[in-house]
Amino acid sequence: MPTFQRDTPPEVAGHEILKLIGLGGMGEVYLARQLALNRKVAIKFLARAAGDPPEEYERRFRREAELMARISHPNVVTIFDFGTADGRPYLVMEYIEDGDLRSRMVPDVPIEVGEIRTIIRPVIRAVEHLHRQGIIHRDMKPENILIHHEDTPKVTDFGIAVLDFAIGSLTRTGRAMGTPGYVAPEQQYGLRVDERADQFSLAALCYEMATGRKPLGAYPSPAKLNPKLGREAGEVILKALSEDPADRFPTIGEFGRALDHGLSAAERPTRRVGPIVGLALVASLIVAGHSLFPRNFPRRESHRASAVSAPEPVREAGPAPALAEAPSTLTTRSLGITLIKVPPGEFWMGSPSSDTAAQPDERPRHLVRISRPFYLGEKEVTVGQFRRFVEATGYRTTAEDPDGGGRTFNVKTRTIESNSEFNWRHPDGIRHQDDQEPVVQLSWRDAVAFCDALTRIEGRPIRLPTEAEWEYACRAGTSSRWSSGDDPESLMPFAWTLKNARYRFHKVGTRRPNPWGLRDMHGNVWEWCSDWYGPYEQATAVDPTGPPSGSNRVLRGGSFDWDKVERTRSASRLPHPPGCSYYNFGFRVCSPVVP
Ligand code: ADP
Ligand code: MG
Repeated sequence: MPTFQRDTPPEVAGHEILKLIGLGGMGEVYLARQLALNRKVAIKFLARAAGDPPEEYERRFRREAELMARISHPNVVTIFDFGTADGRPYLVMEYIEDGDLRSRMVPDVPIEVGEIRTIIRPVIRAVEHLHRQGIIHRDMKPENILIHHEDTPKVTDFGIAVLDFAIGSLTRTGRAMGTPGYVAPEQQYGLRVDERADQFSLAALCYEMATGRKPLGAYPSPAKLNPKLGREAGEVILKALSEDPADRFPTIGEFGRALDHGLSAAERPTRRVGPIVGLALVASLIVAGHSLFPRNFPRRESHRASAVSAPEPVREAGPAPALAEAPSTLTTRSLGITLIKVPPGEFWMGSPSSDTAAQPDERPRHLVRISRPFYLGEKEVTVGQFRRFVEATGYRTTAEDPDGGGRTFNVKTRTIESNSEFNWRHPDGIRHQDDQEPVVQLSWRDAVAFCDALTRIEGRPIRLPTEAEWEYACRAGTSSRWSSGDDPESLMPFAWTLKNARYRFHKVGTRRPNPWGLRDMHGNVWEWCSDWYGPYEQATAVDPTGPPSGSNRVLRGGSFDWDKVERTRSASRLPHPPGCSYYNFGFRVCSPVVP
């Protein structure tokens, strides 16, 4: 569970503090519940800088609160209140669930041009709005851009922001000088700062998003490091990064427009594919007569070499031609669930004895052959899909039984709690579920009941994947700990784990897919598999289905908040009784390819 534990924060009247969610240069930020309105808020307590006179410290924090309160903009975090508790000033603000932009960035891994555009456009609009109010932010960096509902950025942290007429009065503390890698040279050297300092920082942010590197030292053109960015956008970024503010764009608005033009030009080539894919789709709909359509099998992306074991060749087992020709995706008619075709092949199931992160039940690593292709849900089953199933069938989940109830983790007592009010509609009594989020608080029996109903409705077999199918699809040809590599950092853009998820699950499919196009195989929620849990055997197995009986079923993939990120590895297994429901147990569906 949470790795960072700090001193208890002071009590803030009318609020219940739930957990620590952020540590910045200046303070600690907690998730809290505002009792009067029963809503989640974030409370920031200022940490006192050594040697600061107390009045100066409070004065500066008050100024931060006042600046925030002046702003009303959809892309700026809203402040609700300011006060002092136990002598510590605090400010209460809207809680932004999906964490900061930093948690989406991985060193040396560029972000897709389309995603850069989605993030940077509203951020530039927000900063433009600040400038119109006479405020210079002076600390634009990924840690100070929070992400709301997966794709709405919100600017925060006005800790060193200044009103342009108040610049002279700002004490030159170390922090006021900004953050290396983002701070404009004139600000760093204590010269006169104007709006163009924020332009520099935002350009540095774009450079980093596009290349995975900060523009430090003698840095190359971003378009050279990432040709997908295109020459035009690359030049706009370089201009905004000019040492002399006079060489940058005169205003942030002009920078924003030039950048947007460059980024959309860079995106255009991929769009040209549109009509062709569209035609293929129409043709296949006509041929198939229903919603089956072909899609190119996603190409494997390059990944860092495995340090645990050399990659093993995966041999194609050679399916019957009719199976090989089945469409590469399938969408169920009733709930619109998309499944991706997984090719047959062989893989090493489990972990080698040399892997220190592995648990004993992942051994012995053994060769498994998957003899036939199968379809596997691209994403975890969502709340919306489960609701429609419940509406159509009147099904009641195990947790909704009179003597049932779901289990959750109580952040205050740090214990597992069972509560008759927790179920798939109210997973833990705090969150309101979004239809796009994975459905949780489901027992194995509930997941199987869903599959059985879908089988009847669709007229084709729909079931849970076997543990072997699950691991094979998760690995997608890789033999490293995660399909992204051996280092948990490599996983960040691909998965919601305790490193970036802030102890909650997220809308399905909002992280990048694995090499075979499957999403959230690592992290987000644990997924039920069909097998009973039992030890592995040494021998090579063909299409294994697990032991014939047992007391536990298997879950795979780890979740957003397990104790260690290692629980999200491809080989990690979790046994649980089939009647048990948890706030982080969900599933995805599987279907054999029928000729
Ligand atoms: P500092 O001045 O110490 O840098 P910030 O205001 O930037 O403080 O907050 C520190 C971190 O806390 C942020 O980088 C972010 O991860 C998290 N955080 C801050 N405010 C919120 C909020 N309103 N909702 C969610 N997370 C937040
Ligand atoms: Mg900050």
